[in-house]
Amino acid sequence: MNSIEKLTRIFSEFPGIGPRQARRFVYFLLTRQNGALEDLSKNILDLKKQVAVCDDCMRFYEKKHDKSKLCSICSDHTRDQNILMIVQRDVDLTSVEKNGNFNGIYFVLGGSVPILEKEPEKKIRLSEFKNFILKKNNEGLKEVILGMNWNPEGENTAQFIENFLNKTLEKEVTSNKVKISHLGKGLSMGTELEYIDPDTLRNALRNRN
Ligand SMILES: [Zn+2]
Repeated sequence: MNSIEKLTRIFSEFPGIGPRQARRFVYFLLTRQNGALEDLSKNILDLKKQVAVCDDCMRFYEKKHDKSKLCSICSDHTRDQNILMIVQRDVDLTSVEKNGNFNGIYFVLGGSVPILEKEPEKKIRLSEFKNFILKKNNEGLKEVILGMNWNPEGENTAQFIENFLNKTLEKEVTSNKVKISHLGKGLSMGTELEYIDPDTLRNALRNRN
């Protein structure tokens, strides 16, 4: 395989990118000058060096100098550390952070559970989630908000997580010590957290149930 084909194959693995677009990226790169490709390669390599996964919420964050393993949200005690929103991906978290006026914390599942999936634990970070939720429960967790996309796969994921929480925190949920709420009830089908407009998002948060 030559280098054009190799790179085309790599780009076509990106989300939403087909082989034709991938090839256009490669030809675009070939026209770049003045060290642009060196710059690009360096930026890509720096990603791994400068970005880490938070030990608690599993989001990607820019490493700090203090060797802390927690991101700026999980280590911020002006935020309500007992209100937890579960989202599918980092882009969803970014969208809520930017527009939601949300002052709690998050957990990033890293994916979703397809309908009829036989091995959901391979699609999302289930064991990390379990550890996190048990730890948070010991620290006084009050509410878990299911912040999934409003499409069939998102709803299936929310249902799966709700069942999992009912099982894992059975006593706390039945006694209402930990409340489970849905962000998306009442919103129109097909709405995705990544693209939701700020007003709709803030309304959804205010009216969650
Ligand atoms: Zn974090």
